[in-house]
Amino acid sequence: MRKIFIAGNWKMNTDLQSAKDLAAGLTQVDASNVDVAVIPPSVYLSSVGTVLANSPVSLGAQNMHSEKSGAYTGELSGTMLKDIGCSYVLCGHSERRTLFGESSEWVGVKVAAAHQSGLLPILCIGETLEEREAGKVAEVLIHQLDRGLAELTPEQVATTTIAYEPVWAIGTGRTASPEQAQDAHRMIRSRLAETFGSSISETVRIQYGGSVKPQNAAELLQQPDIDGALVGGASLNAESFTAIIEASPQP
Ligand code: PEP
Repeated sequence: MRKIFIAGNWKMNTDLQSAKDLAAGLTQVDASNVDVAVIPPSVYLSSVGTVLANSPVSLGAQNMHSEKSGAYTGELSGTMLKDIGCSYVLCGHSERRTLFGESSEWVGVKVAAAHQSGLLPILCIGETLEEREAGKVAEVLIHQLDRGLAELTPEQVATTTIAYEPVWAIGTGRTASPEQAQDAHRMIRSRLAETFGSSISETVRIQYGGSVKPQNAAELLQQPDIDGALVGGASLNAESFTAIIEASPQP
C-alpha cells in the first residue's frame, strides 16, 4: 500500500515573513496517514525548517546541482540541501526544463546525485499541450521517465517519487480530468514495471500536479494510480493546502 504524499511547491513566491507564517499555519496538520512536504525558495529553507521543527511536515528544495562542490556560481549541491534539513528535492520541474534549458539527461544526473546526497528526488515529467494534441503523451512521458531514472539502481528507483505534471495544467487553472490523469499514471506505472519489474512499479509513488485545489483534490487522489499531489498555487495558503491534505483517501 503506497502512502499518499502531498508536496507544496512555493516556487519564487513569498517573502521571509509570509514563508514563516505559512509554515506556522501547517505545523498542526494531521499527517498521520499522509506524507507532507513544503518546498520553499532555497533562501528561506532554514527559517521555514526552524518553524516546522517537531511538526510532521518535511522540507524539500526546488532544484539542485549534480556536483558536490566546485566552481558553479549561484548553484546549491545536494549535500548543502541535506545539511540545511531537506529530505526531498524537485528534479526537472517543467519550469526548469522550459525556462532554464534542463534536458532530460541532465535531470537524470541530478536525480542520481540527489540519492547520493541522501535526498529523495521528486522527478517531474509531463507533456505540453502541443504534444498532447499531437498524440505524443506516451512518447514524451516515456522519454522523460527513462532518462530521469537512467542512472539509478532499482533500490533508488523504489524511493524516487514521480510527479506527473501536464505542462498545460500548471498554473493555468486547467486541471487534467481524473480520467486523463489516471491514464497517464497507469502508463507511467506500466513503463516502470517493464523496466524495473512489478514489485518496484507497485512501490513507486506517482503524484499528480497541475492546478490541484481543494475542490478537485479528492477525486484525483481517489484514482488507483495517483498517490499524491504536487501543488503550486494552492500550497501558498495554509487553509487550502491543509484542505488538499485532508482530501486524501484514508487507508
Ligand atoms: C507546480 O508548480 O508544480 C504546479 C503544479 O503548480 P499549480 O498547482 O499552480 O498548477
